[in-house]
Amino acid sequence: MDLSIRDITYCKGVGTRRADIFRKELKVQTALDLLRYYPYKYIDRSRFISIADIEDDETYIQIKGEITEFHTIGIGKGQRLSATFSDGRHTMELVWFRQIQYVKLLLHTPYLLFGKPSRFNHAWNMVHPELTPLEKVRPETTQGLEASYSMTEKMRQSGLNSKAIRSILLNMKDDILSGIPETLGMDVVNHFHLMGLTEALWNIHFPKDTSSMQRARERLKFEELFYIQLQLLRQMHRREQNAGFLMPKVGTFFHSFYCDCLPFSLTGAQKRVVHEIQDDLKSGRQMNRLLQGDVGSGKTLVALLCALLAADNGYQTCIMAPTEILAQQHLETLKSLLKDLPVRVELLTGSVTKKQREPLHEALRMGDVHILIGTHALLEDEVEFANLGLCIIDEQHRFGVAQRAKLWAKNIRPPHILVMTATPIPRTLAMTLYGDLRVSVIDELPPGRKPVHTLHYSLERRRSVYQFMQQQIDLGRQIYVVFPLIKENESLDLKDLQNGYNELCEAFPTLRISMVHGQMKNRDKDEQMRRFTSGETQILVATTVIEVGVNVPNASVMVIMNAERFGLSQLHQLRGRVGRGADQSYCLLLTRVELTKETRQRMETMVATNDGFRIAEADLQLRGPGDLEGTQQSGLPFELKIASLATDGQILELARQAAAEILEKDPLLQEEINRIYKRRLDTLRETAVNWADIS
Ligand code: ADP
Ligand code: MG
Repeated sequence: MDLSIRDITYCKGVGTRRADIFRKELKVQTALDLLRYYPYKYIDRSRFISIADIEDDETYIQIKGEITEFHTIGIGKGQRLSATFSDGRHTMELVWFRQIQYVKLLLHTPYLLFGKPSRFNHAWNMVHPELTPLEKVRPETTQGLEASYSMTEKMRQSGLNSKAIRSILLNMKDDILSGIPETLGMDVVNHFHLMGLTEALWNIHFPKDTSSMQRARERLKFEELFYIQLQLLRQMHRREQNAGFLMPKVGTFFHSFYCDCLPFSLTGAQKRVVHEIQDDLKSGRQMNRLLQGDVGSGKTLVALLCALLAADNGYQTCIMAPTEILAQQHLETLKSLLKDLPVRVELLTGSVTKKQREPLHEALRMGDVHILIGTHALLEDEVEFANLGLCIIDEQHRFGVAQRAKLWAKNIRPPHILVMTATPIPRTLAMTLYGDLRVSVIDELPPGRKPVHTLHYSLERRRSVYQFMQQQIDLGRQIYVVFPLIKENESLDLKDLQNGYNELCEAFPTLRISMVHGQMKNRDKDEQMRRFTSGETQILVATTVIEVGVNVPNASVMVIMNAERFGLSQLHQLRGRVGRGADQSYCLLLTRVELTKETRQRMETMVATNDGFRIAEADLQLRGPGDLEGTQQSGLPFELKIASLATDGQILELARQAAAEILEKDPLLQEEINRIYKRRLDTLRETAVNWADIS
């Protein structure tokens, strides 16, 4: 019988109560859903060890031996049962805290002990172990790898543990092995030497050996990544059928800026990227492009050049920034770059008052504004354009589908879209989170940049850091000092910031110090920033509000307090605030003395390299897929159950290549041999949440 329509309730060993838990906890509705609930690890049950060989408390172990004595310790609720287990040479303690009246074990009888050891007073013990009389151990349980499934608390409480899941699946063995319909074409399976689906789904739960487990995992990862790529690429192809505004002309706006205002020549990478975008703009198709480039690589200038091209062709541009400060900064940058060219640039953020808005709305509707810079506020319905043709999104987070739809509705056709990342993202992430966009990369910094020297100190040595700061200030430089700020804990952090500020005032009694943080009124914040930008103050104490966009070339030292509390890409962003002038710049990372291994590696990475792409890779490796889940959930068409963007880059490349080849021959998946893909995509879309196909 088709397992995809067999209700989980009627699978042997399930019943209504367990089915209910499966549905609520795991969204498992059918037998096939359970089969697609993959184990997260395996325990090697073919291995038996002796007590002397126990190495760590991470792995499950099996030991053959017998119980030599029992003790009951304590009374009433706190009572526990303890036993001494001997493997013939050494002994260890076994402990039960709960339901000890049910522990029925015999002395001096051979048992197989199974469980996770823990260390107490320099000796190993095991809490709530599993003990099976040796003569009753079924040979198949000790033959190989045993699957472990992640469990919710509810599942655990009702005994729906790994053993129970395995046994339910075992009951379906014949149905499974009689064949699960393939989800990949045979040509793909053969070409990439993949395990067939039936074999893979069996071996993922009951692997014959390590190599079949690995082959099964590989096959399922491939399938998962393949369908994500197929969906994204199909989306991209389909969108490229959309007619796009034609912008073939290079006119006076672009020319006069390029010839009269450009303060330097473009880097080779900037030129290349502008050409790529220009080709899109004159293709007649809607552009959807990702612009990647390291901090300071000059993305803003590229954005401006594109906006001028749009203006030359009679179209307006909007630039969306993630924060007000950044939007403000963009406005100032563009205005100063444009000098007195007749290009009108305006700002629209949440703090623009209603009164100021009305004339702005009117000017936008009349087409008098060429470039509108803003935050999410510019998505609002009242914001109407005469002829919006290009939208540039300077972002850190992925733009939601709903927001995108709003943008698209602002003209009779969707405008061209250029997404700029704040810092580089690893290739695997780019291919999945932004897999439906064409990619342009600025892989070259403007000439003459001196790499920032990065040093790591413990907070205890901050006095010597202060000395260094004083020397730099004596040379005429300015300094940023950044304190962490984590939202949920704002008041505490603010106190840290205030204490830090006070300490700096004491340490530098002759200097003037600015302070900005997120809870200040905009007016005060602006005033403090102005004082620093103009050189009136020498030190700027700040929370991460300065993370993006701030540009003060004379500031050449970035001091980051409690750097252990920042992620790698954040640290890299912060460091990008210095090294913009002609002087040698420094980034000083101050942390606690005691650091976790992961934090230490983060600091070492920062010290070792200035290359944003390498940092992004290291970040992905260090944090692993777990921490990226938030991003994954919001950015991926389908959930990843087994593949990892941190470690499965190679499979991802192959899967994308396979998907691209199929779509190249049959973009709409209409041919008979490709029906299998179309059907599977439909099924996946039905079950996927948060995904609307808006094109
Ligand atoms: P990001 O890519 O981080 O947004 P910006 O666009 O802010 O970088 O550029 C960083 C700095 O480099 C700015 O001060 C900008 O004026 C300068 N810059 C950009 N392009 C060039 C270039 N081709 N030559 C010299 N300086 C440049
Ligand atoms: Mg920028």
